[in-house]
Amino acid sequence: MTTTEPNPTVQDTSKLGHHAIPSYLDPNDLGPYAIYLEQVERVTPYLGKLAYWVETLKRPKRILVVDVPIHLDDGTVAHFEGYRVQHNTSRGPAKGGVRYHQDVTLSEVMALSAWMTVKNAAVNLPYGGGKGGIRIDPRKYSTGELERLTRRYTTEIGLVIGPEKDIPAPDVNTNPQTMAWMMDTYSMNVGRTATGVVTGKPVALGGSLGRADATGRGVFVTAAEALKKLGIRLEGARIAIQGFGNVGEAAARIFHDHGAKIVAIQDVTGTIYSSAGIDPRTALAHLRQSGKMTGLADTDELTRDAFWDVDCDVLIPAALEKQITDANAGRIKAKLIVEGANGPTTPAADDLLAERGITIVPDVLANAGGVTVSYFEWVQDFSSFFWTEDEINKRLDRIMGEAFLSLWDVKERHGVTLRTAAYIVACTRVLEARALRGLYP
Ligand code: NAD
Repeated sequence: MTTTEPNPTVQDTSKLGHHAIPSYLDPNDLGPYAIYLEQVERVTPYLGKLAYWVETLKRPKRILVVDVPIHLDDGTVAHFEGYRVQHNTSRGPAKGGVRYHQDVTLSEVMALSAWMTVKNAAVNLPYGGGKGGIRIDPRKYSTGELERLTRRYTTEIGLVIGPEKDIPAPDVNTNPQTMAWMMDTYSMNVGRTATGVVTGKPVALGGSLGRADATGRGVFVTAAEALKKLGIRLEGARIAIQGFGNVGEAAARIFHDHGAKIVAIQDVTGTIYSSAGIDPRTALAHLRQSGKMTGLADTDELTRDAFWDVDCDVLIPAALEKQITDANAGRIKAKLIVEGANGPTTPAADDLLAERGITIVPDVLANAGGVTVSYFEWVQDFSSFFWTEDEINKRLDRIMGEAFLSLWDVKERHGVTLRTAAYIVACTRVLEARALRGLYP
């Protein structure tokens, strides 16, 4: 058998002494990577002969764990745990964000990197999947401390990143300034200005117009297509959003500008509700000024848990993973869920929602707008030729709209959920590349 003609039988890993669950994960508490592994299990029957290669999807290609020591402002030294995971590079360099959060774990970064592999393949970007993270609560540290942290982390992972190897971007609690520090540090270390090493940079530094709103815009574009399929009018549609950061705030603003009504917003500081609708710009100004979401004029404060009972047409989780579980999925009133966040829905909740006839636009499609404009940024940096915002938005809208429609077709053809359809298309693309490349050596 040649490596480009896969044997139709799936590898019997027990005979080979291989285990899908690597020893560096706790088998009793697999964390977010368990969700991803279950999603791969669900798609395997649809992969045909390519299922021969499916084990490759279950294991990250490369994991780097680094110690990140920095001087704190009080003169002491603190050490932080940092990661960079390259899940798959069969279709191109690894690509994916960097998260600063106190709960970051290896399992979480592995899952996020794997979802990037699937996402990039689902929208057909020429990338593999990667992700990074540092286990830190950035709210407790000064700007100077965060700059030192970012620079040391970038130097530590400098072994594996690069414009043609692995290209980080912002994620939870990181932003264009973080990317500027990463770009500068990497450039200093290699002795030349390497703008293409990260995306999501400030526009003044080789960033792309349209990148800041791109993920929220993609959420909006796919939601609007899904609403059309469901026969629900966008104008006046009631939207509830969890997370009011890069993704949630932009999505809320764009929905509002298209006549939809934002009825509830939840962030880490609290939850607000108004049946008359909340103006996201007013909410953002209030959040910036007061430091919290609650207390906004003409809104009611809800408990964290009551957010899941809000009467709405569209629910947009845009915060963290594992928010929609079998504990709250039965209470959700929305007809459509559009996953701005990565991994917000557990597989058990997925099943419950499918049984209840609630449509989900999965993360690997819904939030792909960010990496799509990151791809535009990377291409612009290579050619040093920059496009207008209008050109970028048009290309983004086209890619997201077409991806939605083609995945919807696959969903209809196989009678599966949109998530399984996205995994069928994406995993097929990744494994086709795997089979064509063959195993080295
Ligand atoms: P962000 O740091 O800008 O915002 C995160 C938001 O979530 C904040 O409003 C925060 O208050 C809220 N939040 C945090 N913990 C919460 C909790 N327990 N309950 C309710 N709200 C909580 O991050 P972001 O870049 O907007 O990312 C949000 C999600 O979108 C993440 O899952 C991320 O992986 C995903 N995502 C981001 C991008 C991007 O371009 N930034 C692209 C694709 C996917």
